[in-house]
Amino acid sequence: MEQREKVYDLIGVGVGPFNLSLAALSEPLEDVEALFFEKQPAFEWHPGMLIEGTKMQVPFLADLVTMADPTNPYSFLNYINKNGRMYPFYFLQRLDIPRREYNDYCQWAAEQLTSCVFGKEVVGLTLEEEKSLYVVEVRDVGTQEIRTYFAENLVLGTGSVPVMPASFRKVEGGGVFHTSEFLSHYDDCRNAESITVVGSGQSAAETFRELLKEQRSGGYRLDWITRSAGFESMEESKLSLEHFSPDYVDYFYQLPQKQKDDIFAGQGLYYKGISNHTINDIYNLLYEHSVGRETLNVGLKVLSEINGVERNESGGYTLEGRHIQKDETFSHDSEVIIAATGYQPYVPDFVTELTDLLVWDDEGRYKVTEDYRLVQQKPNSNHIYVHSGISHTHGVGSTNLGLSVHRNKVIINHLTKRNVYPLNETNVFQTFDV
Ligand SMILES: Cc1cc2nc3c(=O)[nH]c(=O)nc-3n(C[C@H](O)[C@H](O)[C@H](O)COP(=O)(O)OP(=O)(O)OC[C@H]3O[C@@H](n4cnc5c(N)ncnc54)[C@H](O)[C@@H]3O)c2cc1C
Repeated sequence: MEQREKVYDLIGVGVGPFNLSLAALSEPLEDVEALFFEKQPAFEWHPGMLIEGTKMQVPFLADLVTMADPTNPYSFLNYINKNGRMYPFYFLQRLDIPRREYNDYCQWAAEQLTSCVFGKEVVGLTLEEEKSLYVVEVRDVGTQEIRTYFAENLVLGTGSVPVMPASFRKVEGGGVFHTSEFLSHYDDCRNAESITVVGSGQSAAETFRELLKEQRSGGYRLDWITRSAGFESMEESKLSLEHFSPDYVDYFYQLPQKQKDDIFAGQGLYYKGISNHTINDIYNLLYEHSVGRETLNVGLKVLSEINGVERNESGGYTLEGRHIQKDETFSHDSEVIIAATGYQPYVPDFVTELTDLLVWDDEGRYKVTEDYRLVQQKPNSNHIYVHSGISHTHGVGSTNLGLSVHRNKVIINHLTKRNVYPLNETNVFQTFDV
């Protein structure tokens, strides 16, 4: 007799915070049997940037579950309680928890969620129309063995990957690396004679601040170079933060695509700038270091675009730059170069290869429904929900952890065809629509 394969209601690709939240919110539901595959051997949230002293840019209430159901056992407060840290957390009196603690909290949740499987990479995906299910090929990262799983629906939570300009990639390794690898290169930095950070977002600022703290004891020259006109602060006023609300997502979604692209391009400071507290820390350190008669062995350079990196005779690197207002070129030598050049959405090949299944826009981006499903060429009851690479459709809050639970509420309600997690119609004070 032919053995019938198990068919899951939902298979998830990737276990970052977005899918981990979905795993936690769907665990109590009897009508959702889900399995989430993660290629890393264990949950790790941006390990290269878990610098001591860095903190979350969202309040701890943006944990995996609280915004949908504060009684869910995977809440941050339950993690604190189960770890016997209620009083220290109570006396801490902070909403913005350390980034290292957020990672530890997610690891605590991931270890208990049996639907999350680690060390498994999803490498293939097809829709079997006759059987109305997806066939998912999963490679065991240790043994390389490939196994097939079946699901009625999928959810992509593949996040983002670091971006390095081509000229940096050419010399990558050793002394040239992305901020995402900062902590694994920390000792090399301490022993270097000179270090240069290129870029001026939050990761650049946190890296620079950490190196600045250690600069005098490390004895290295430290430079910070950016193409931007300034080391600009992130827009963090309470009314600006309302752009990271379901209400703004709803408003943004219905705009024409061209208008969405223009608006998003102008919203850089909502998510690309530097937190005020980080800028303050840096300024205070610079001031402290400048006290007395010591020369400050630190440089901050704006309006300076880096167009090339070459290895030089002294074993370090030479950056070729251009002042973008005066249009004059310059060279800059440094033993270590840290590229704080951001991240881009990661869309696995097996998704981009689904050319006949999905609908793509003129820019080659997938189209997404308002309730976070990839638009398919043929109407279909097998859905592919998506968390990653949706800023062009859902706007500036797409990667914001404060919206992750809301998105998962929408996904779960759609998947179960029930109002499992009710949504509020109005969540903020201001109106974005007419
Ligand atoms: C340093 C840093 C700090 C940040 N801090 C904040 C913050 O404080 N607040 C905030 O709102 N946002 C923050 N963000 C933005 C953000 O939301 C997150 O980066 C978050 O990690 C995104 O979660 P995710 O689940 O979408 O993806 P990711 O965390 O990127 O996880 C995706 C996972 O999918 C896995 N994967 C990919 N392809 C496959 C495959 N084929 N098979 C199996 N697994 C696969 C990857 O290994 C990865 O673990 C920060 C970003 C960075 C880089």
